[in-house]
Parts: sequence; structure tokens; C-alpha cells
Amino acid sequence: MKPTTVLLRRGRVIDPRHGVDGVRDVLVRDGVVAQVSEAPLDAPPDAQVVDAQGRWVLPGFIDLHVHLREPGEEGKETVLTGSRSAVAGGFTAVVAMPNTKPVNDSVLVSEYVKAKAREAGLCRVYLAGAITKGLQGEGMAEMGALVAAGCVCITDDGRPVMNAGLMRRALQYATQFDLPVMVHEEDLTLSGKGVMHEGATSTRLGLIGIPPSAEVAMVARDLVLLEETRGRLHVAHVSCEGSVRLIREAKRRGLRVTAEATPHHFTLEDEAVGDYDTHARMNPPLRTRQDVLAVREALADGTIDAIATDHAPHGVLEKQVEFDKAWNGVVGLETALGLTLAAVREGALSLTRAVALLSDGPARAFGLPGGHLAVGAPADITVVEPDVEWTVDATRFFSRSRNTPFHGRRLTGRVAQTWVGGRLVFENGQTKESRS
Ligand SMILES: [Zn+2]
Repeated sequence: MKPTTVLLRRGRVIDPRHGVDGVRDVLVRDGVVAQVSEAPLDAPPDAQVVDAQGRWVLPGFIDLHVHLREPGEEGKETVLTGSRSAVAGGFTAVVAMPNTKPVNDSVLVSEYVKAKAREAGLCRVYLAGAITKGLQGEGMAEMGALVAAGCVCITDDGRPVMNAGLMRRALQYATQFDLPVMVHEEDLTLSGKGVMHEGATSTRLGLIGIPPSAEVAMVARDLVLLEETRGRLHVAHVSCEGSVRLIREAKRRGLRVTAEATPHHFTLEDEAVGDYDTHARMNPPLRTRQDVLAVREALADGTIDAIATDHAPHGVLEKQVEFDKAWNGVVGLETALGLTLAAVREGALSLTRAVALLSDGPARAFGLPGGHLAVGAPADITVVEPDVEWTVDATRFFSRSRNTPFHGRRLTGRVAQTWVGGRLVFENGQTKESRS
């Protein structure tokens, strides 16, 4: 690939890590940020010039929680279609969950996904390895080998590690690699056969509920284990006020815990299940207004570090069934920015904080490159048209799946361009694949 020089002119640069919010010129050379200037820059003769006036120039978004479904469920998503969906949503890097078929608990699967990501050549794809072999919750996977293969965290996402002793050993062992252990917090003895939040709506619909304790009790357990092991814990998709309270307190005491929340959990309440809408079925389930407000507050005050989508593609067959037979999960990459900006407009978050939650926060949580736009940083950049209104149309997603509760929703703010390593990978509704 030939080195490129790009000058992004007069955009509003928001770089929360360095306290930048103002009109700047950004010069990109050889895949990294070469200069950020308040004064207009002269374009070098070889530069591609982009007029970014009226647009926001942001650090590329990083999603810590994405299901790409390959290998094994390519009918739902592939590394390629998931990468297209990512860059269309402004994400320049994603962390691929290991619950593929086969599970990513080995170097072989890690190498396979990496090769597919290289072939796709769109966003950066980081890997999450399994905590336990086959996600069975019994024997530990070979953590050292997974780290050597490039895994940036380990998780049994989709399933909790019910065995506390095993969880303790995983946290302990991971300290050798300074590796975050990402946890899907659910005590299966409390969630049981539940299919949605336990409350008025589940009673009205006659569906079995999942009490908040299913999540909160596991967060409590893992924070106790974290304190003993002095490891790193990352709590996935926080949904409950009780979890927020525990994480806030643990952070205050200096434990190395980070957390993420999804746009659906800070946007929708359990009532969204309405009349058995399977697109509102996810795990953890949508909670109450009070929980939504608590999650929003945690996003604003730094208790939660990152907005992550838990992008979980499913086919029509998994969703066009009775509610209690439907699969959990929604796609999220292409709606995350719009939903985040909606929360900003509603006053839940400042714009700077929202940008941080999509870039700097996730980068720091997992120690990933990017997430900021200082000189020398990778030129992973998301250019946003802030005032464009659009309607979510699931049939037009780049993702191979359509399972979203947001179809038909009006959103404001759209991705105009996505740059990865100084290369334009998405512009005006088109992805730009290049075979490398
Ligand atoms: Zn997940």
C-alpha cells in the first residue's frame, strides 16, 4: 500500500485525551497523525485535501464488544460484513468475541480470524480469547498461547463463569500478562429460565423475569475476587443500578475495574418489549427507567469507561419465533453514534464525554493504540456530519443481520468518513475495500 498524505481542513477536532475541542487542520502522513494545527496549513503537494468544515473530526471509535460470528455462523455475519458494518458506524477498531464455532480458545482460531480481518482490510480487528475451553466453564483455556496469538482480553462472553474458584484463578493468572478479564455477569441460578427483566412488564406479558440480582450479585463476587487477586476486570454490558454502585465504589478504592454499557441499555427500558417484540430480547435484559438513568449517570461520571455495542447478529429464524424461544441480542454498530448523540441532546452526557466513551475510554480500558489524535497517533479518524437527520433502515445495514429494535427511529448525526491508518475505508455510505 502506498503511503498517503491527507489534510483534513477546518474540522472541529474533539480529542478528549488532550483536551482539544476546536477548529483545526489535521495532517496525516504514512498512517499516523503528523500535525494538528489551529492555524490553516498549506497542503503538501502530494496531499489529498478533505474539506471538513462544519464536520467533527474525532478519534476513530473503538468497540470493545462485537460478535463477528466467523468462523461458524457466516449466515449471520462474517469478519468482512462485520468490518463493513463497523466502519459504516465510524468504528476503526473492534474486539471480536470468542463465542464462534469453534470457540476462539486456540491459536488456530485466533489466526483464522486475524487472516480474515487482514483480507477484509477495513477496520482493526482485535481478538478476545476464551477464559475456559469451549466456553464450558470448566477447564481454563491456554491463556499464554492466546496472548501470544494477539488476544487483548479473555472472556466467556455470553456465558458467566459460574465457578468462583476458576474465576479467581483466571484473574490471578491473567495478572502475568496484565490482561483484562471481561465478564458477562449473570448468576444462572438467579436468572434461571428468565427471558426479560423481572417487573411490571414481565408480569403483564406472563414472561419469566430475570431479577437485577442475577447481574449485581456476580459483579459483587467478581469485585471481591478482583480485590484479592489485584488483577484487571472489565464488566461487559452493565444494565443495573446496583452494578453501577458497586463498580463506582470499587474504582474509588483503586481496584482495576473498567466497564462498558451498550446504547440499547442506556436508551430503552423493559417496556420496549411491548407486545413480545423479540428485537427487544437481549441478555442482560432491558431494565427500568431508574436503571437507564443510573447507567447514564455512570457514563457521565466515569464509572463506566466505554460505550460498546455488543453487536450480536442473528438471522430471521432466531427472531421470528415466540419471545421465550427467541435468541438474545441486537446488532449495534451502525446505530451506536446516533443513539449516543441522542443521549447528548437529552442532556445525559457532554459531547466531549460521549466522544471519550467511544474512543479514549475503550482504548485505555484494554490498552489499545488509538483513541486520540496527538502527533504520532495512528490516523484512525471518524468524520461526522453532526446535523444530518436520518432514519434507521435495517434493510440497508452493512451487517448481514437486521435484528434491531431501532428500525424506523429518527437519529441525528451521521458518519461521513472513516479513516483507518490514514486510509479512507468508508465515505458517504460506501465502504472501500482494498485487497492488501
Ligand atoms: Zn456479547
